[in-house]
Amino acid sequence: MKITDLKCAVLGRNPVIRIKTDEGIEGIGQAEYAKENMKWLFLHYRDAIIGMDPTDVERVMQRIRRLGAFKPWGAGVSSIEMALWDIAGKAAGVPVYKLLGGKVRDRVRVYNGNVQRTMTSFNPEDFAEEARWMKSQPENFSIVKQAISFHTMMPREVPDYFYGEIETGPRSPRTGVMTERGMKHTIACVEAMKDVLGDEVGLALDCGPGFYPNDALKFAKALEHLNVMWLEDMITGDYTPYVLADLYREVTPYTTTPIHTGEQIYLRQNFMDLIEKRAVNIVGPDFADVGGIAELKWITEYADLHGISMAPHGRFDGLFGLAAQVQVAATLPKNYIAFEYTTGDPDWWYDIVEGLPDPIVKDSHIEVWDAPGLGVTFDVEAAKRHLRKEDSDFFD
Ligand SMILES: [Mg+2]
Repeated sequence: MKITDLKCAVLGRNPVIRIKTDEGIEGIGQAEYAKENMKWLFLHYRDAIIGMDPTDVERVMQRIRRLGAFKPWGAGVSSIEMALWDIAGKAAGVPVYKLLGGKVRDRVRVYNGNVQRTMTSFNPEDFAEEARWMKSQPENFSIVKQAISFHTMMPREVPDYFYGEIETGPRSPRTGVMTERGMKHTIACVEAMKDVLGDEVGLALDCGPGFYPNDALKFAKALEHLNVMWLEDMITGDYTPYVLADLYREVTPYTTTPIHTGEQIYLRQNFMDLIEKRAVNIVGPDFADVGGIAELKWITEYADLHGISMAPHGRFDGLFGLAAQVQVAATLPKNYIAFEYTTGDPDWWYDIVEGLPDPIVKDSHIEVWDAPGLGVTFDVEAAKRHLRKEDSDFFD
């Protein structure tokens, strides 16, 4: 079998790729909707892979893997990897999990970092209300994740929150040394959420980046009695193209609160420091940024050897991304906790994708399905109605 074409369209805001073959089998890949304006990146790899056998997934990956980088620049390679597995599974007539070593669980746990409302004020009662709302959702999530501190507008909205300057504009960094008042406020918000969630629903917190290590340690120690699931990305995270494992080493060994990072990191090599130095307790790569689902599995296995858990990022990866997460999560070792549930956005995504269970999530789990490949496909006629003009030949 040979790859004959790679196409990319932006559906809603998610870049979607379609790899065509000379045997009529095709594969679909999808990237985070945060890459809406990066269609060129996905097409960049087209000439490198045409003519290759898509079922030799690793051979294709060896050709293009070095041509990516930390988020957002790993999305092209990652989406191609996902589409190749889709083709390989369809060609073999088996679900992708079979090709990744077979499943070790029949249903996979998800956590909620996505079924959320936009917060505009950041006081303890606001966080309590948000926790109450998430707890009441029909998915019955067993873990919910809340953005807090530097991962929100809290530094701008809470007076004297930190000693830094407020930067405005999209993706502007928020970082600095926290005031005593800022620290107390943040801790009070976590306490308010735990009051609502109790020990029935685990609470993870997406915190930064923006903390300095001493503040990170102070915050982690202050929360120890609350048994939060993890503190994510306190020091590095969104769009930081570096790891800084040694800074995490100033926090993680000195607190029982689990420390988590990894969503921006590209490739297994860049997890070595975090894992080998035991700089965090949990890693959370996003398959759609790290280099694909096999890359995610490799990192999970290596983390497991070092006593480190896995809770993959994925909130913007869309419905094909959801399918890829289900396939790989079914195969991961026992250090797997849950992946971040992703939804179709806008809602019409549910009308153009076939093969998902209904409801998708029951009691915080998704039943692993057995259709070949990723097991989800486009309803082409329905999807065509949502193509942008410049993408009108996507399904040709
Ligand atoms: Mg995060």
